Amino acid sequence: MYHRFDAIVVGAGGAGLMAALQLAQHPGIRTAVISKLYPSRSHTGAAQGGIGAALGNHEEDHPEWHTFDTVKGGDYLVDQDAAEVMCREAVESVYELEHFGLPFSRTPEGKIDQRRFGGHTRNFGEAPVRRSCFAADRTGHMILQTLYQQCIKHEVDFYSEYQLLDLIVNDGVCCGIVALNIKDGEVHIFHAKAILFATGGFGRAWKITSNALSNTGDGVMIAARHGVPLEDMEMYQFHPTGVYKLGILLTEGARGEGGILRNDSGERFTERYAPTLLDLAPRDMVSRFIYQEVKEGRGIKGKDYVHLDLTHLGADVVENKLPDLADFVRVYLGIDPVRELIPIQPTAHYAMGGIPTDIDGRVVLNAEEDVMPGFYAAGECACVSVHGANRLGTNSLVDIVVFGRRAGKHMARHIQEVDFTELPPKPDAFSREQLGQLLSRESGESAAEIRQHLQEEMMDKVSVLRTEDKLKAAQKTVAQLKQAYTRVAIQDRQTWYNSELLETMELGYLLDISEITIAGALVRKESRGAHYRDDYPSRDDANFLKHTLVYGTPDGLMVRYKPVKITKFEPKERKY
Ligand SMILES: Cc1cc2nc3c(=O)[nH]c(=O)nc-3n(C[C@H](O)[C@H](O)[C@H](O)COP(=O)(O)OP(=O)(O)OC[C@H]3O[C@@H](n4cnc5c(N)ncnc54)[C@H](O)[C@@H]3O)c2cc1C
Repeated sequence: MYHRFDAIVVGAGGAGLMAALQLAQHPGIRTAVISKLYPSRSHTGAAQGGIGAALGNHEEDHPEWHTFDTVKGGDYLVDQDAAEVMCREAVESVYELEHFGLPFSRTPEGKIDQRRFGGHTRNFGEAPVRRSCFAADRTGHMILQTLYQQCIKHEVDFYSEYQLLDLIVNDGVCCGIVALNIKDGEVHIFHAKAILFATGGFGRAWKITSNALSNTGDGVMIAARHGVPLEDMEMYQFHPTGVYKLGILLTEGARGEGGILRNDSGERFTERYAPTLLDLAPRDMVSRFIYQEVKEGRGIKGKDYVHLDLTHLGADVVENKLPDLADFVRVYLGIDPVRELIPIQPTAHYAMGGIPTDIDGRVVLNAEEDVMPGFYAAGECACVSVHGANRLGTNSLVDIVVFGRRAGKHMARHIQEVDFTELPPKPDAFSREQLGQLLSRESGESAAEIRQHLQEEMMDKVSVLRTEDKLKAAQKTVAQLKQAYTRVAIQDRQTWYNSELLETMELGYLLDISEITIAGALVRKESRGAHYRDDYPSRDDANFLKHTLVYGTPDGLMVRYKPVKITKFEPKERKY
């Protein structure tokens, strides 16, 4: 089936909905949002802790301090011009969300309440500051509901439960997408002047992850198939406090409210590593501290986890400021967080890297920043890059609203300036062939086994501590798994709600993403932010103060580099 809109947004998380809302405010522009999930099930809805903005509702704060923290937190791999834009526009974006009706938690005087989060400081690193605006520990849920309501009000067309299969590019210009209607298996072509990918992250490449089942990097790999390089893919964040063995996230807001990490002897071990910020040092560091404690035998009962202690906070704080966390812990672990310690371990959480874009969301193809006309990306699937080598807590929600908004505005201008580009002949041929192949094999390899093997290998060898040997071993395994994947067979032959088919396609994206992540990790022979190499333990600005760009070519992967944009803050050693 053929559809024609001015703008297509793929993804109905915070980034996609924010962009769609900007577009919908232009009366002449017809916008459709395509999403494999029902919009309110997008992963944005799982965000707990908050959205950072220098409102200064408790103590003095400035966007410039927020920018400094973002740059330092990202271990100086951040493009500083983009971080300046983000931290400045964070303030107006939060007020805009408030005016859309988002029910933020309040201070006694009725202002938006704010709390501490890792790496956020006052006066360029002097002391922690309360910068995270929150709606209890359901901030992302509230953002998603608020934006969805606004989109409905502005009559955005939704195609929910449609899975993106391909991007349509004609002579270098992006002019549409191909998607599968999950309900009946029909292939649809959407023709448009501007297309935004806001398809989220890919934590499902790892065994222990905070990410939803749907976070499989579809958009990222579909873009890569069309010659778009992927930026800084080796920079993947492990959040320190995932529920032991399950990976379910326990918000950093718990430490923001005063929670403490303890080892087997009950020691608050962060005192030894980060004497100023303690448990609120940035995530890459706290995750490494935990690995170090475990490695030196101080994990709980000598095992690979430590404790999060909230017992001193009192029932009032736990029940009112962290109600969802308290629920998770009671339901999944049978533990009462008011009285008992919670077992935690680092969990795969957030992609700093992704589809490279400029500050207006336009996808760029190389270090010279040549764009692919009509193609945009925003949110976790994109790399602006505002998070560099390590994202600070609360900065993803800022990223999605600020850059979703900017991308939407730029798309609106672009749409008014250009005509429709003609579709190439048979734009859906590749997708139909791909589906046909996957459904044709009667017997072969099992997708579930390949997925499990991949996730275990990535967890074991491409997580918090990396070495050349481990990365090379993982590279070999992934190559073997990709081979096995060419023989994968699907049992379910139905056209409607064929989840086995969809999950098998998603596994294909995860395999490619893992291969690229490993390629980036191998060439970066230094330690920076989330990328820690045991064999190169120091940061090496002389050789590696640059972004990696990995291209897929017929001869395999090719790595290129892009300079980091530095405006105000010269790289310094990172101490907290
Ligand atoms: C448990 C958890 C807690 C978090 N807490 C915080 C926090 O407190 N503060 C913070 O700043 N950040 C937090 N984050 C990170 C932040 O929530 C995410 O990075 C952010 O919400 C991503 O938003 P997005 O719009 O880019 O993508 P998502 O919200 O993930 O949405 C992706 C969308 O793309 C669609 N999609 C994907 N693939 C396809 C396809 N093939 N076809 C069609 N549609 C597709 C999906 O249907 C979905 O609608 C948290 C993350 C997790 C996992």
